[in-house]
Order: sequence, then C-alpha cells, then structure tokens
Amino acid sequence: MNRFSWPGGASAALCFSFDDARASQVDTGLPILDELGVRATFYVQPDALQTRLTKWRNAVESGHEIGNHTVGHPCSENFPFGRDRSLENYTIEMMKKECDLADERIRSIFGVTPRTFAYPCGQSYVGRGVRTQSYVPVVAERYLAARCFAEGAVNDPEFCNLHQLAAFDGDCRSSSSLAEVLERTTAVGGWAIFAGHEIGDASARQTTGAHALEETVRRALSLSVWVDTVSAVAEYVSTHRKKIRQEVNNVQSRK
Ligand SMILES: [Zn+2]
Repeated sequence: MNRFSWPGGASAALCFSFDDARASQVDTGLPILDELGVRATFYVQPDALQTRLTKWRNAVESGHEIGNHTVGHPCSENFPFGRDRSLENYTIEMMKKECDLADERIRSIFGVTPRTFAYPCGQSYVGRGVRTQSYVPVVAERYLAARCFAEGAVNDPEFCNLHQLAAFDGDCRSSSSLAEVLERTTAVGGWAIFAGHEIGDASARQTTGAHALEETVRRALSLSVWVDTVSAVAEYVSTHRKKIRQEVNNVQSRK
C-alpha cells in the first residue's frame, strides 16, 4: 500500500529545473512559467547571471528557486570544456570552497541562500582511481536536497535519497515524450524532476522546447500534479515521510 500522500490530494509531484543560467531561461522560459503560475528551479552559474540580472531578480521575486551549481562547474576530464578544472584533479576541500563561494555570490546578488544543489554534469566524485571520493557528504551537510542529471527514473517520495535525486533530461524532447514521463509519474504517485538547459526550439542542442514545456505544465495541472520547485517538494517529502515513519513506529510499539 502506498503510504505517502501529496498535499492537497495531488496525484504526483513535478519539478522543472534548468542549469547554468542560460539567457533563454529568463528570456523565453520565465514568461511561460509565470503565465501558467508555476515555479521552477534554476541551478545557476553566478558569472552567467550578469547579462540578464534584472530578469533574474524578477524571477526570484516571482518565487522561482535559485539553486547552487558551483562557480567553476567542475566535471569529468573526459569533457574537453573543462580540463583545467576537472573533477579528477579536484579535492573535497576544493568542492567545499566551490559550494560556499557560489552560495556567497548568490546571496550577495539576490539576498537568498540556496537550499538545493545540482551536480555539474550530474557527477558527484573527486579524484581518480583508488583515490576517488564522493563529494555527496559535502553537499548533504549544506543543502536540503541535490539533483543528479539524466538517470531517467521517477523518485519514490517515501524512499528516495534526497541528496541523489534522479532526473530526466528534459532537453530535445517532444510534448508526447514529456507526457510519457508524466504518465509514469502519476501512475506511481511519484516525483519527477526534469533537468534542462536552453529553452526554445526543441530541435536545437541542449534545449527544452518552449511549446513542450507549456503543454506539459498544462497537462500536469489538469492531472492534479503538484508542480513546484525542488526545494518546496523536498521540504514536503522530508517532513511528511518523517511523520509516516513515526506513525509506523507507533503502530509497531503498540503491538
Ligand atoms: Zn551545468
């Protein structure tokens, strides 16, 4: 039996998240989200905010979430774009500094402290070979929740690991492909998170379709799906499943 229930009788939960503070997110995406009255999570790189600072400030005022995505965006050395700051050459101490510096920069711009994190490239290790270490503990001690990238799995709200949340790559998908994810999610009363980059023409590289985004939000709302930020859903999940566990313990202790 499914013991978990979403607030207000919602059938499931859905988050839209976008990474790297690409300009199209506020130019194209924000008007769609605001028109539909739903909030999204933006995992920003502070340096990229400058070109659209006013629009980003408006996003925060409308209730959208700004999450931490580090300053230097360290990823595997396998990717040519960041070999000078690859995770293989990072240490746990360097990751702590990445997180804290991005938090500070976000706080100084918006006056808010990030509550959730997205692993750059979805990767959560530092070092190589026998010296590889997970930096999940660095993230877990600082944030309520953290998102991976393209695992293609629905999170089970009662059991999911809040600091390793699975996501669906939302880029380059048709409306019907996004609808399939929604169907899988409502079928189990789960929590799906889309992770994307640009917002515009879905046939372009790393781009969530503006039309597909709008259609999916409308469809989700018509199915009584709770569409909100990663931190709002994570907060509810964290509090609500503690209550469920407490109730289970109470029943067992009465036996
Ligand atoms: Zn990124």
